Amino acid sequence: MTIEFYLPRIESMKNLHPELYAQQLMHFFQEELTWEQVSELSSANLIKLMISLRDAIKINQSSIDILKLTQAIQYSRSGLGLCVMTPYTCAFCGKEEIWSSSAVPLICTSCASEMATNIATHYPNFYKEEPITKKEV
Ligand SMILES: [Zn+2]
Repeated sequence: MTIEFYLPRIESMKNLHPELYAQQLMHFFQEELTWEQVSELSSANLIKLMISLRDAIKINQSSIDILKLTQAIQYSRSGLGLCVMTPYTCAFCGKEEIWSSSAVPLICTSCASEMATNIATHYPNFYKEEPITKKEV
């Protein structure tokens, strides 16, 4: 793959989502590069920019709220416990965090957030087509 492959894709995403494009430039290069500077990037950097912009667009278009899903992941791993601040070690990355209950989730906020982001980016379509019944309960 060459620059002729990446640049037109980046450009069309840039035109449709200028704010997300600007965010990705700031994220990777800490500044808003001109289009000329972008077109002179190495193909490795163009790939990074293209993929992260594509993912940012997917996340933006997803109906999933990353923060709420992060909390759902952590709360689904905890349960009923004593209401006391409790330190725990994340089973995924080994980081120490504090939970507000003695029933700890064993997954830290950043690992849960990464999981939520991956779900929103790659598996956003897990909702039912239609509810089984529309009757009010
Ligand atoms: Zn972790």
